[in-house]
Amino acid sequence: PFRQRLLVVANRLPVSAVRRGEETWSLEMSSGGLVSALLGVKEFEARWIGWAGVNVPDEVGQKALTIALAEKRCIPVFLDEEIVHQYYNGYCNNILWPLFHYLGLPQEDRLATTRSFQSQFAAYQKANQMFADVVSEHYEEGDVVWCHDYHLMFLPECLKRYDRKMKVGWFLHTPFPSSEIHRTLPSRSELLRAVLAADLVGFHTYDYARHFVSACTRILGLEGTPEGVEDQGRLTRVAAFPIGIDSDRFIRALELPQVQENIKELKERFSGRKVMLGVDRLDMIKGIPQKILAFEKFLEENAYWRDKVVLLQIAVPTRTDVPECRLLYMLDFIVSDQKLTSQVHEIVGRINGRFGTLTAVPIHHLDRSLDFPALCALYAVTDVALVTSLRDGMNLVSYEFVACQDSKRGVLILSEFAGAAQSLGAGAILVNPWNITEVALAIGQALNMTAEEREKRHRHNFLHVTTHTAQEWAETFVSELNDTVVEAQQRI
Ligand code: UDP
Repeated sequence: PFRQRLLVVANRLPVSAVRRGEETWSLEMSSGGLVSALLGVKEFEARWIGWAGVNVPDEVGQKALTIALAEKRCIPVFLDEEIVHQYYNGYCNNILWPLFHYLGLPQEDRLATTRSFQSQFAAYQKANQMFADVVSEHYEEGDVVWCHDYHLMFLPECLKRYDRKMKVGWFLHTPFPSSEIHRTLPSRSELLRAVLAADLVGFHTYDYARHFVSACTRILGLEGTPEGVEDQGRLTRVAAFPIGIDSDRFIRALELPQVQENIKELKERFSGRKVMLGVDRLDMIKGIPQKILAFEKFLEENAYWRDKVVLLQIAVPTRTDVPECRLLYMLDFIVSDQKLTSQVHEIVGRINGRFGTLTAVPIHHLDRSLDFPALCALYAVTDVALVTSLRDGMNLVSYEFVACQDSKRGVLILSEFAGAAQSLGAGAILVNPWNITEVALAIGQALNMTAEEREKRHRHNFLHVTTHTAQEWAETFVSELNDTVVEAQQRI
């Protein structure tokens, strides 16, 4: 049967590549939400285009890697170190990421920032053009091209310049901020215009879509309609497509002997105590210090619970693979990661000193990642999950927790600033993570909740997580993109 080809373009390919010799590469598929979403979509023949995460300066290596990746339906974009530094570390992660999460633009030495801003923006455009060149090499008429995330906001424009008839969609995995925030970005208009070249623009929530439309009306003076944004009769469709997870993968994992073994160990280790869990990348946006301070306040005010509850906080470091020669450039990030880590360690130390005993401490804090079976086991034994992001595009940890809780029926405390609050709001206890008093009260409410109420809330969330899956998300986006193009053709 004929299957439409889908070209998925994202900054990173879903593989990690390690060079074993002049012409040998070993590849390992990663297992993120996007990967499993698209593996599950059988209607399309999907191919990935993106950066493999390694610098390959020589042609022999590039050829060998291209051949190895082809087996996994992946097509590499080769970026040299300088471009990666300016485009990826610089513009993407130092400017767009913090801005889209309401942390504002970097405020160091003004002149230096302005100068580096210009060159980083130029590198960003150049990198996007390099992705477009690879897409156009592989594009065949009728293909759907799906661009992902804030790394590739220029891509839709580059692609349409190459072929106006190409079906182009763009999806943002982070929040899109209020137009008042987006306005501060020096390249605000160019970015909006480049995204508008797409046929369909998607966000996790209705609010992010609304923010994008207002940015286009206020900054570009275009017309916003319920369908999207109009520019001289041409419509760019804008809509919300909340992502999900591959819930079956988590539910099945709970049956694995290794996970069962982990569950047993954890239950023994923390028997007699309620388990609270936080799982976050080590990032300012996750509100880890705020979460721990709220837990401290809860212990302060609830002496009864001091030896009956434990908080397990996993903080996954993200910048561990920086090569030594780049450390200097990454100094800002590394210093702020270290500041965050030492701030968290200090608070944890203080609380464990205050409320710990000779045999037990209230907080276990881990600065490392867990493998999949260990993570699933933790989700399964948790009584209360605590997600306190200050801003978060969606937050999949909250979904994964719910998927693993069908026997326990634990409680989810969820920040109203996570996209997931829009979908899991009715089952979770929603909190403002900045309000330590409110979060402390929510912890008490969660720990004391009756079995009936837990059951009711869990049912609601479990139904949502198992029906709004990643696969369904991908199918909906691509079919909406196909429909949008048909409708546009009918208009002319
Ligand atoms: N995760 C992981 N290793 C860990 C802990 C978590 O790979 O040690 C995964 C987790 O399963 C989830 C993802 O990291 O799928 C985090 O996604 P989320 O949307 O919550 O936040 P993000 O990190 O994308 O901001």
